[in-house]
Parts: sequence; C-alpha cells; structure tokens
Amino acid sequence: MNQIVPPVIAPPIVWTPKRDVATPAWPVPALGVALLRGLQCRCPACGRTDMFRGYLRVIDACSDCGAPLGSARADDAPPYFTIFAVGHIVVPLMFLVERAYQPSMWVHAALWLPLTTALSLAFLRPIKGATVGLMLKLGLMKSDDEMPQDPRNA
Ligand SMILES: [Zn+2]
Repeated sequence: MNQIVPPVIAPPIVWTPKRDVATPAWPVPALGVALLRGLQCRCPACGRTDMFRGYLRVIDACSDCGAPLGSARADDAPPYFTIFAVGHIVVPLMFLVERAYQPSMWVHAALWLPLTTALSLAFLRPIKGATVGLMLKLGLMKSDDEMPQDPRNA
C-alpha cells in the first residue's frame, strides 16, 4: 500500500541584518567625499592628513582620526584602473594622429611611449588613493590577523 506523504514545508528564511557590528571609531564619509579625498591623496575619512608615505606606500593609520588606512589592501586594483584610464586616453589619440598624418612608427613610439609612461605615473597615485577611499567606505579592511607579516618589522 502506498501512503501519500504530505510534503514538508520549511519555514521561510528571513534575512536579518547583523546588529553586533561595532561602528568604526573613525568618521565614515559619503562615498563621493571618500573618493574625492582619496583622489587628492588625503585621508578619506577626515581629509586632514596625507595618505601616502612615499609614492605609493599607504600609511598604517591616519594620525588625525585613526582610520586604519594600511589595512586596505588595494592590491592590483589601482594599476588596473590606471591602465583602463590611460588606455582610453592614449589609444584614441593614437588613432586620430594615425588617421590625420600617417606618421612613421618611430614617431608613434616617440609620442605614445613617453605619454603613456607619464600619464600612468601621474594617475596611479590618486587612483590608489581613491581605491583606498572606496575600500574604507565599503568596510573592506583586513584585520591584523589577516594581514601578511612585513619582514621588515620582524
Ligand atoms: Zn584621517
């Protein structure tokens, strides 16, 4: 005899926000403000201190507001965004010059290699600043135990 088994209906899953997340001790600005401060290479949280020590090394923490800027591991994102931006400037110019003047290859090399290098060096630092600002706004900071050990500090 076959018995008809009624289907088991699971209770609906209801998403609830995680309420035990501590609010950060540093100010968290609006997204546009964090990006603009990062583009200016300033602390995205307070805008009062320099974000970089050197050309691309991000300071460990802001001396004014304490935002842990060094915990934002931007990794390959700033070079990627830089290549994207510089490519969208240089390649159309290259096509325009080729179409208008048909210069020889050495002229192209003499024009575009220095321009590409200069634009990349000029854009990389503010784009890294904006990336760190975005990461700070989105809370994409790694805690100390997730960070790789710096051999210079050992
Ligand atoms: Zn700050």
